[in-house]
Amino acid sequence: MSAVLTGATVVTSLDPLRVSRGDLALDDRRVAAAAGSGAARRDCSGCVVVPGNVCAHTHLYSALARGMPYALEPPANFLQILQRIWWRLDRALDEESVRASALVGAMEALLSGTTTVVDHHASPNAIDGSLDVIAEALQSLGLRSVLCYETTDRDGPERSRAGIEENRRFLARVRDERPPLARGLVGAHASFTLDDETLAACAGAAREFSVGLHVHAAEDGVDERDAIARSGVRVAERLDRAGALDERTLLAHGVHLDEQEAAVVARANATVAHNARSNMNNSVGRASLDVLGGRVALGTDGIGSDMFEESRAAFFRLREDDLAAGAGWPLAPLAESARLAARSFGEPLLGTLEPGAPADLVVLDYDAPTPLDAASFAGHWIFGLSSRYVRDVMVGGEWVVTDRRLARVDQRELAADALGAAERLWRRLDDLEPHGYEPEGGS
Ligand SMILES: [Zn+2]
Repeated sequence: MSAVLTGATVVTSLDPLRVSRGDLALDDRRVAAAAGSGAARRDCSGCVVVPGNVCAHTHLYSALARGMPYALEPPANFLQILQRIWWRLDRALDEESVRASALVGAMEALLSGTTTVVDHHASPNAIDGSLDVIAEALQSLGLRSVLCYETTDRDGPERSRAGIEENRRFLARVRDERPPLARGLVGAHASFTLDDETLAACAGAAREFSVGLHVHAAEDGVDERDAIARSGVRVAERLDRAGALDERTLLAHGVHLDEQEAAVVARANATVAHNARSNMNNSVGRASLDVLGGRVALGTDGIGSDMFEESRAAFFRLREDDLAAGAGWPLAPLAESARLAARSFGEPLLGTLEPGAPADLVVLDYDAPTPLDAASFAGHWIFGLSSRYVRDVMVGGEWVVTDRRLARVDQRELAADALGAAERLWRRLDDLEPHGYEPEGGS
């Protein structure tokens, strides 16, 4: 594969921000200093080419939840949202709906310019092999991913062991087979549904495979109250004591981390995925980005994978309270999300378009109405650019979206298949009661 994208404005790095003008050469699935002879040329005149976006925390399994009926008492707090919605949905998932969810989530990610998702999967009645089902679905569309299974004790010891085993099985497969587009982490739900033994087993699996733990942390006060009741310390301290916190760890949310916990997280050099829209939607509070410090990435927590939309919402939510936040703010967490994926793939340049970087990129058909250069790019990101400008997407040197359509599969057929799977999933869900799990320390 040798190609040249001609005539574009190219953002070669988000943080530090670097913008250049001219041709972008690709060779052997990577960005190159120059293309080989006979390279295919793709006209990108008037377009902006950016590194593919990375979503640092999502739940593809929720892709078929959109618009699903809900007949129970409305939830009044975060725990009830889990008990009455998500812990019913995950139990209704079978292999067919896991696959359909992954395909729909991947389709929407790619069409919105996201080339890598860091996913956190749960399907307690279809655990074994579920990560393979997702990896294969994403591979078929050409989406890069970092996967894990959400280990938890809330569904009993058998499923908790099966969760750890699914992580280990998938990590062993990835280590041995090195699939081009999939890597893994060890998944765990959250401190408040994990006993000491399970938490230690998750940390042990992460060490065994030299990967991080991907876990929700301090998303709601319920997590902190449980950790204190259970162990006498707050969430970050509990994770740290369990050996579950290091530079490879990915914590989702961090809304209720206090300053001491933030210091523990910073000392470990762990990454925190900020999910602004989800935090607002679940009314869990707002993460203090000052407290969380430098290594903050951006995720969606399952509200699609459109990082233009997520970064814009996060920016406005921040700006509501902090006029000093500049339009360039989202670029640093977006770059941090890419660094997380880069570490998983052992590709330090992933998330940039520097020579040698894997060719994960997005062509935005954007007629900039004002000058677009390094000085103005952040303003365009917040106030102009969006996923509606995504024309083409390349992952690992292959076009996966061309002219606004998936390149490898018929996306109308994909959506039609998903519709049937969603109807069957919703029928099964209808029969399920709220989950009975109660944390320690009260809701
Ligand atoms: Zn989440």
